[in-house]
Amino acid sequence: MYIQEISIDIKTKLDKDELIDEFGILMSCLPFTLEKNSLDRKFNNFYVNRQTKKIEDLCNSRLRYKTIGKSYDSYKSPCKCKKSHFYILITNYITIESPLTCGACNKSVPLYRLPIYYDHGYMPILRWETNYISCDRLQMNCEIGERWALNQMQEIKSQLSKQGLEICRKIEELTSIPTFYYLHNYKKYKEDQLTRPCPGCNKKWNLKTQLNNQYDFKCDECKIISTISPNI
Ligand SMILES: [Zn+2]
Ligand SMILES: [Zn+2]
Repeated sequence: MYIQEISIDIKTKLDKDELIDEFGILMSCLPFTLEKNSLDRKFNNFYVNRQTKKIEDLCNSRLRYKTIGKSYDSYKSPCKCKKSHFYILITNYITIESPLTCGACNKSVPLYRLPIYYDHGYMPILRWETNYISCDRLQMNCEIGERWALNQMQEIKSQLSKQGLEICRKIEELTSIPTFYYLHNYKKYKEDQLTRPCPGCNKKWNLKTQLNNQYDFKCDECKIISTISPNI
């Protein structure tokens, strides 16, 4: 992640409290900056442009952006693949990466690299991401709704998986890149887990070799991907 400084000269008699509120709104429209130039105006969506204009008009000057550094030294850039073979929709409760990962390089894909998803932006993807993170947090906390949240994450027919799978289909339609949904797995198995069939089509889906040092199951028909359960 890159750390950016955003500043502006105030050339009007503006109430500074009002400006702080307007900056807050601008911040809520901006993404985490996975790349140095993530705040480049060419990546702005309608809402960022509208809020930028509002702030610039209030101050009668232009916003300035400066990259201060990285969130940690070893941070590497996101996916730079010309064309990914496939994407994976995956997140968790602590990550600040994009919820879309490139299947080829296993790095994050900034959402602004995708064609506009809906209503000038990516809101449905961010909504699924927030829902997933909420479930993951519930199951990590272990006290309230743990079982329910875990099932949302690991059952293919749950509302959360349904929402995620719909997003995968839409990303695929927009980019022509096959998009897989990551199905969490913390189930307890009596039998050998590797022989368990795909929960979507009931066919064999275990991979001969682990993919990206992470995935053990992949169904090209149902477009889902998963891992061996650590709960044994
Ligand atoms: Zn890549
Ligand atoms: Zn399947």
